[in-house]
Amino acid sequence: KSRNQKGTSLSYFEVETDYQIQRELDIVNQLNYGLQNEEFTINLQPKVNLSTATIEGFEALARWYSPVLGPVSPAEFIPVAEQTGKISAVDNIVLKKVLQFQHERKSKGLKVVPISVNISPVHFYRESFVDDFISYVNLFDVNPEHIKIEVTESVELFDYEKAKEILIELKKCGYESSIDDFGVGFSSLSYLQQLPFSEIKIDRSFINGISDTSMHAVVQTIVQLATNLNMHAVAEGIETLEQFLLLQKMGCKTGQGYYFHKPMPIKEAEKLLDSIII
Ligand code: C2E
Ligand code: MG
Ligand code: MG
Ligand code: MG
Repeated sequence: KSRNQKGTSLSYFEVETDYQIQRELDIVNQLNYGLQNEEFTINLQPKVNLSTATIEGFEALARWYSPVLGPVSPAEFIPVAEQTGKISAVDNIVLKKVLQFQHERKSKGLKVVPISVNISPVHFYRESFVDDFISYVNLFDVNPEHIKIEVTESVELFDYEKAKEILIELKKCGYESSIDDFGVGFSSLSYLQQLPFSEIKIDRSFINGISDTSMHAVVQTIVQLATNLNMHAVAEGIETLEQFLLLQKMGCKTGQGYYFHKPMPIKEAEKLLDSIII
């Protein structure tokens, strides 16, 4: 297909190949169908306590298998969903699956641990977000402490006053929120102190470079910052024993990463959860 069929989302700063443009168009065209036809599933990745190596909870991650396009990664479909007004639908499919899971475990009297869902900043700042979110959770009779919200640190959407208002409202109702991918997009640290996040998730790029002396210092500083602000530090993307031990030594409480567990289908996560005694 030719270039003149492309949409308007082409960035001025990068040259996309014909293949990328076609792929993006295909995603735009299939997204609605995929959302309506149960093509989306979730994977759960354990959040591991770094002192005891036990599972504290999970993060839910959207997965899309399109019969037409094959597997499409979040890196591909999340930006498209954000640009085409479909992101709340994506977030809510994931939320619904998590709520169904938590509801089922609760009603069977099984062990329930908190599960975090990712909420796009585009969705987070929508007028009705808090009300919609809370009524949805209530509909499934899930305890607020069993659902957590992760919002990505992003400069363009960081309206501090509004963020503060939303976070306070959520907190009042018993919901904890995390700032995701911390360290790569934040403009001003002085605002962080005013935002009632309960958790700071240190971006994977920092963990990846942690054996480097200066990066080690950066991570140590973020862990200390979290402690001083009364927030919980979580390291993303732990892939090696060395990274795990360094983070443990620094006093980072929680971690996620391939070293422990990759994101897995619900059934597998459930088996894992039932196999451990907390
Ligand atoms: P995120 O929320 O920061 O999630 C962590 C990402 O890192 C996930 O990628 C996860 O699979 C990956 N990961 C975990 N451990 C490791 C590791 O040790 N090494 C490496 N290399 N990667 C690791 P995934 O699932 O592809 O998701 C990418 C991003 O897409 C997420 O980043 C999140 O920002 C977004 N996303 C995923 N699901 C949703 C959703 O339901 N709603 C929204 N709004 N965004 C979502
Ligand atoms: Mg996340
Ligand atoms: Mg993250
Ligand atoms: Mg990330």
